Amino acid sequence: LQREMKWVSFYQQHSRFSSTTSSTGSRLEGKIALITGGARGIGKATAQEFVKQGAHVLIADINDKNGPNVASDLGPKAQFIKCDVSIEAQVAEAVDAVIERHGKLDIMYNNAGIIGPYYPPSITDLDLDEFEQVMRVNVRGTVAGVKHAARVMKPVGSGSILCTASICGILGGLGPHPYSISKFAIPGLVKSLASELCKYGIRINCISPSTVATPMVIENFKLIYPNATSEEIKKIIGGLEEFKGTQCEEIDIAKAALYLASDDAKYVTGHNLAVDGGLTCIKSLTL
Ligand code: NAD
Repeated sequence: LQREMKWVSFYQQHSRFSSTTSSTGSRLEGKIALITGGARGIGKATAQEFVKQGAHVLIADINDKNGPNVASDLGPKAQFIKCDVSIEAQVAEAVDAVIERHGKLDIMYNNAGIIGPYYPPSITDLDLDEFEQVMRVNVRGTVAGVKHAARVMKPVGSGSILCTASICGILGGLGPHPYSISKFAIPGLVKSLASELCKYGIRINCISPSTVATPMVIENFKLIYPNATSEEIKKIIGGLEEFKGTQCEEIDIAKAALYLASDDAKYVTGHNLAVDGGLTCIKSLTL
């Protein structure tokens, strides 16, 4: 407990750990980015950040209610493409649409994902059809995104591919089994593909966010706390033992994505960047 309290006060004293705000800039000037799952949550925040930094962003999402509004709120530098990442042909079409409209794809962010059902925490209760659905979106969808981005980036000889993994893909026991298994696969595919893609000047990295109170997380917490309001759930998330003194926000992930997507990271590939306030370090020390 003493060690934990020290950590909390360390956080509170060091303002550089408090969440950053976003400002306009030119770190992605002239870049064309495709972001899957950009209709809400982390993908939406990243689309906003990328546009602020000068990129032209295409939001590919299955949600055609939010998606077009998010894009139109961002102005002429954003468009929406309806796409289910678990269907390869739709991913291929989204990538082709980017090439048709803009002639190139500089940044591909494979971010779309689902948690899937919360189970009693035993493998013996696992429904393999539900497991497969999580794998189809989180793993197959990411592989399809990498495949088709690489198809158009290879001839050009440059590009930055990002994927969203999770702290649930670093430590076991943090999320439902199907979700965790799917997220363990993401750093694996990044490592596996980095060695091939670097020969073509293409970088590939992933980000492992901690718990962010996005619509996905709030909806899932509502299954556990059915009578709680969204605000109450945000407080519960903020009050989780690991998050005392700080809380991971969408903008924290968007800033990490900005770094990895930009030329600032021109020599960085094959990495899994945990944006977790040290949570996975603390867990591994205290397990
Ligand atoms: P979210 O549900 O708020 O946003 C996810 C977006 O992905 C939604 O717009 C949704 O419509 C879209 N999507 C879902 N299935 C799709 C499909 N088949 N094809 C295209 N789009 C699809 O969730 P979020 O929290 O912003 O999650 C974004 C990513 O971050 C996911 O990969 C998630 O696993 C990961 N992640 C989230 C957290 C967190 O705490 N929020 C933590 C670690 C990792």
